[in-house]
Amino acid sequence: MTRIPGAWQRTARGAGLLSVHGEPSPTIFAEMSARALAEDAINLGQGFPDEQGPPEVLEAAQRAIGDGVNQYPPGPGAPELRCAIASHQERFYGLSVDPDRDVLVTAGATEALAATLLALIDGPDDEVVVFEPYYDAYAALVALAGATLRTVPLRSPGFQPDLDELTATVCDRTRVILVNDPHNPTGTVFTAEVRSQIALLADRHDAYIVTDEVYEHLTFDLPHVPLAADPRAAQRTVTISSAGKTFSVTGWKIGWIVAHPALIAAVTAVKQFLTYTSGAPFQPAVAAGLGLPDTFFASRSADLKRRKDLLGDGLREVGFVVSEPAGTYFTVADAAPLGVRDAEEFCRALPAQAGVVAIPLTAFASAAHRAQYATLLRFAACRRTETIEEAIRRLRLSL
Ligand code: PMP
Ligand code: GLN
Repeated sequence: MTRIPGAWQRTARGAGLLSVHGEPSPTIFAEMSARALAEDAINLGQGFPDEQGPPEVLEAAQRAIGDGVNQYPPGPGAPELRCAIASHQERFYGLSVDPDRDVLVTAGATEALAATLLALIDGPDDEVVVFEPYYDAYAALVALAGATLRTVPLRSPGFQPDLDELTATVCDRTRVILVNDPHNPTGTVFTAEVRSQIALLADRHDAYIVTDEVYEHLTFDLPHVPLAADPRAAQRTVTISSAGKTFSVTGWKIGWIVAHPALIAAVTAVKQFLTYTSGAPFQPAVAAGLGLPDTFFASRSADLKRRKDLLGDGLREVGFVVSEPAGTYFTVADAAPLGVRDAEEFCRALPAQAGVVAIPLTAFASAAHRAQYATLLRFAACRRTETIEEAIRRLRLSL
C-alpha cells in the first residue's frame, strides 16, 4: 500500500496495530473472531453474549421501527432516553442528573470516549493517565487526540493499582485520568480507597476524570459505585456507559455521557460532527430497558456470576491459574503452569489446536510493558452454559 499520510498512523501505532511494514492491522477482537469462524472454534474471545437480551427491550425496538421512529433523533438524544438515564443514575446511585443539561446520547461508549478525549485534549503536552492493561481503544484514541499516554500498572492477582505509583503518575500535565471500572480485561472492581485517591489527585492537579462504566450492572455480590458519587469528582467527571453489556445488545451501539453541563457542551461540540445522532428506534428501547425492575438487573449479574464460576472452575481443572473477577464478562487465566511462555503465540495456535478462542492480555498493554502479561489470557464468560462446558471439554482434551 502506498503510504497514505494522516492521523491513522499515530492511531494505529497507539494501539500497537502498525506493522513493521507500516500497514494497519485489525484489532485483536476482529482477528480472533475471524479465526473462530475460520476454524469453527468456540469463541471465548470477543465480549458479546450469545443469547438474546430482555424481550421487553427487543420488542420496544421492533415497535419503534413499526411506529416510524426511523429519522434523525435530536442531537443530544431522544428526550425519553435522556430522562431514563437521569432516573437510572438517581435510582441506582442517588445522583441527581438533569436530563436536559447533564446527558448526551452517543453511538456506543466508543463514540462517547472518542468525542470526550478529542474534546478535552489540546495537544502533546496533555497527558492521559490510564490503568494498564487497558481496553484497546484507549491508547488508540489518546494517540488520535494527540496526547501523551501515561500508564499505571495493574498487577496479577488482584489487579488493583498501587496508590504510590498512581500518585507519582498524576501531575499538573495530566489532563484526563481515564478509568474503567469494572475493568476490562481484568474483571477488577476498584476499591473505595482507589476511587478516593483518583478523586483526590484529579482535584489536586485540576484534571478531568473520564470513567467508562459499561459493566456497571455486571458486578458480583458488590454494588457498583460511580466515581462521580465522590463530591471532589462530581464536577470534573465525565461518566460513560452503554446499553450493549447490560441488555445484551452490543450491536445496537447506544451509549451515553453524564457530566456537568459545561463538559456536556464541550463534548457535544465534537460529537455533533462525528455521528450527529444515531440509532433512532433503539433509543426508546434502551429507555425501556433502563426502567426494568430491580429483579432484572439482579438476575443479570447473578446469571453471569454462575457462568464466570463455571468457566473459572473449568479453566482451573485444565491447569490454568485463574483470577477471581469481581465483575465484567471476563476472567484472566495464567497459562504458565501449562508450560506456556508466550500467550500471544498460544492464542494464535489455540483455535486450530483446541477449537477454542481466547485473547492474550498483551493486546491490552503498551509495547514497553507487555512482558509482565506474557503468559496471561482473557476468556469471556458471557456465553451459554453448554458453550462454556464444551470449550472446557475441548481444552481438557488438547492441553
Ligand atoms: N469500554 C469498554 C471497557 C468495553 O469493554 C467496550 C466493549 N464493549 C466498550 C467500551 C465499547 O462499548 P460500545 O460497544 O458501547 O461502544
Ligand atoms: N468490548 C469487547 C471486548 O473487550 C470488544 C469490542 C470490540 O470488538 N471492539 O471483547
